[in-house]
Amino acid sequence: MSIIVKQLTRRFSPGGSPAVSDVSFQAPAGAITSLLGPSGAGKSTLLRLICGLEVPDVGRVLIDGLDCTALPVQKRNVGVVFQSYALFRHMTVRENIAFGLNVRRLPRDEVEARVDEMLRLVQLEALGSRHPGQLSGGQRQRVAFARALAIRPRVLLLDEPFGALDTRVREELREWLHELHERTGLTTLLVTHDQQEALEISQHVVVMSEGRVAQAGSPEDIYDRPASPFVASFIGGASVLRGHVLEGRAALGSLALSVPAAAREGEAVHAFVRPHDIKLARSVSAAGAGERTPFMGRVERFKPVGGFVKVLLRMPSGDEVTVQVPRSEFEALGVVEGDAVRADVLTASV
Ligand code: ADP
Repeated sequence: MSIIVKQLTRRFSPGGSPAVSDVSFQAPAGAITSLLGPSGAGKSTLLRLICGLEVPDVGRVLIDGLDCTALPVQKRNVGVVFQSYALFRHMTVRENIAFGLNVRRLPRDEVEARVDEMLRLVQLEALGSRHPGQLSGGQRQRVAFARALAIRPRVLLLDEPFGALDTRVREELREWLHELHERTGLTTLLVTHDQQEALEISQHVVVMSEGRVAQAGSPEDIYDRPASPFVASFIGGASVLRGHVLEGRAALGSLALSVPAAAREGEAVHAFVRPHDIKLARSVSAAGAGERTPFMGRVERFKPVGGFVKVLLRMPSGDEVTVQVPRSEFEALGVVEGDAVRADVLTASV
């Protein structure tokens, strides 16, 4: 039951830039795939193209090998959950869950049995006779899942399903979705702008930027081997540091990293470094014989955030680098804005 998208393009105004531009990817069968990107990247449009609420200008959508591009929504047999609950307020929880089954004219006994099964699945057995107004936000969203799953869809499409909930409930439901997926094994596509959410619950991530796929891969691939400065900074707030190849290694201050075999001596390289992978030091001791020259940076600004201090460094190359230092460590350094500090890169990816 994989979802395959081939060269999809959707333009809302003639001559304008497309919301979705030549997008191809595959959501593997039985996995949760996240469509991750900032607001306006084209994620929702892509999801709507897959469920049939939008028609592409170019390209094809295949669900479980079947070309659905020209099929109306109700013929695609997909379960969809949006950010806003979209439950019928005048209906009970049971009636809401039964809605899609009644539309499909299933026998009454079967409808009742399936509603019971769904209430058990989303752990709301006791609340079947309530109205949506009598439920918490998290419970309402679980009813929306039950309604989407009641039709036994081939795939589940989720558009920021936890986006309207507060952080604590969102984290609980993330865990809940993970368990729900373990039980159903349904191929799931999750639209989110939250990189934490994507890395935590999906097995495959498609990063979107300006209507295009910026990178697709496992959460580890995306995090450890970002394909571009955009992906590096969007996932985990990495900065770009420029260095060069020295004795067959990428020299980044005092750190030397391995580089592809084809890299030539003296060639410029850029590396992605995450905020907690740089250590700051006050000492400006000259490099000893055989030592590599450490990076020196200037503190542009800093801001305490919880137990950490976020420091913006300006490197001599002009690069801006964000560093995250434990608060006590930063206070012990005793630096102020404008001071020079040594920046030791602990680890980075080239
Ligand atoms: P995301 O879900 O990543 O925030 P969207 O798919 O909602 O992105 O939007 C992508 C782009 O398409 C945005 O520039 C948005 O303004 C535009 N867009 C989305 N839907 C419509 C529409 N119905 N009419 C015109 N423009 C739209």
